[in-house]
Amino acid sequence: MKVPYTALKLPKLLWERHPLSEERLAVETNAIFLVGNGQPVRGLPYGAVLHERMRRHRYSGDSADPFLIDLPNDVGTRLALSYVDESETPFAALTRARKLLGMHLGAARLCVGCFGISRAVASRALKAVIAATLSGRATMPDFRRNKGQAEPRLAVIRVAGPNITPELPRLLAEARGNHLARYLTTLPADRLTPGIYRAEATRIARSYNWHHEFLDEKKLAARKAGAFLAVTRGSPDRDAGILKLSYRPRGESAAALALVGKGICFDTGGVNLKGARHMYGMHEDMEGSAVALGTLAALTELKVPFGVDAWLALARNDIGPSAYRPNEVVTALNGTTIEIVHTDAEGRMVLADTLSLASSTQPQLIIDYATLTGACVYALGTRYSGAMTNRPALVEPIIQSGRDSGERVWPFPIDDDYGEALKSDIADVKQCVLEGEADHIMAALFLRRFLVGDPDWIHLDLSAGRHKGGLAHIASDVTGFGVYFTLNLLLDHNLLPAAPARKR
Ligand SMILES: [Zn+2]
Repeated sequence: MKVPYTALKLPKLLWERHPLSEERLAVETNAIFLVGNGQPVRGLPYGAVLHERMRRHRYSGDSADPFLIDLPNDVGTRLALSYVDESETPFAALTRARKLLGMHLGAARLCVGCFGISRAVASRALKAVIAATLSGRATMPDFRRNKGQAEPRLAVIRVAGPNITPELPRLLAEARGNHLARYLTTLPADRLTPGIYRAEATRIARSYNWHHEFLDEKKLAARKAGAFLAVTRGSPDRDAGILKLSYRPRGESAAALALVGKGICFDTGGVNLKGARHMYGMHEDMEGSAVALGTLAALTELKVPFGVDAWLALARNDIGPSAYRPNEVVTALNGTTIEIVHTDAEGRMVLADTLSLASSTQPQLIIDYATLTGACVYALGTRYSGAMTNRPALVEPIIQSGRDSGERVWPFPIDDDYGEALKSDIADVKQCVLEGEADHIMAALFLRRFLVGDPDWIHLDLSAGRHKGGLAHIASDVTGFGVYFTLNLLLDHNLLPAAPARKR
């Protein structure tokens, strides 16, 4: 298995100085118009036709969906027109870009014209179009004999608008990281066992010159990682473990940043077995680790000046005679005793020991990613992911990065008194509560106990890891949510002292 994410390339981009004309459109089969809100269409190429057709279809400028028309020229140019609001959010721009590209599936060439919008807003809209193009060019696992994906893919884009060449390396790095996360997450559990996952991540590590180290069950037993090993006990294979991948720029020996990810390659729920409805799709329960890996790849491609470790907790939550059970008391790596309450709360168990290991290396910031709780989905739906942090000062940057990246994140409180529900009569802490109220907050409070020292910490509960029909510019149901958000947080908010100066 080899994830083809480095094969993802930018389309050929050609910038034109002159606005799109009718003569130009006469040789283009596919086109997009980005038009400033309130701008009369009569002034555009084919303005009279557009005006008449839009009037007939009662198309109004505030419509969220683009207007589609085949122009009356020799090639019958397929044109998708969308109004652009100067105050629109990045999420709205990205969503529009996905819809516009969706109207040009199978096109090999596309031309884009901007009309009556400011340079800054046109740049953002074009960035969104290119991000959506990259996302659409990313090949996903497909085991059908007749592959369903439309070929050929968009290869050339002509732009009559501001040149955004300096933004392209970042857009490509983000898209590749996101592709890596989505591809791995989409793979079924028989194609991505912990062992196969480890082999592929190790191959990727060699290609980037990352140091890699695998803590298998034996090494974890020696470290007394009882929380992690409680979960892996039920698996017939002995391939679970924690994979540590390290990126170091020249001159840096330590990691300022640790990325931690939940990598449950299939979650049956354990002896508290899930029902069919909730078990279907549980091969995606490793998405958090794939997001950590994709983020590390993107940061490496951008050659960030700070060291980064990714810690991937790779395991399966299986059933079997040796699987862990409710009421057992297990001892975590940091010595904390845990009363098991529900075996389907395995994510916080594997993350507990992984967070202890990651924080014991004393990074300045830890970000963990996990498809952790149904409660977060109940609270937010699948359009936002939830965030919890031990630093009130990080709440505002988290919201802003969510808004600016188009991967929207909303914070939840983790006040200590929520933790009263986790008091146990037999162990230091309960794993969870059966009532399930505010379980996403309980899970975060539980995880916080396993941090060694007092690092800055952000926990992302990936409720938006899957969204039917796609989200923002991502067209697949699996969103790979977190790579864009994290890069924005790190590179545009200067969270780490060694981070490069804010761009733009
Ligand atoms: Zn579970």
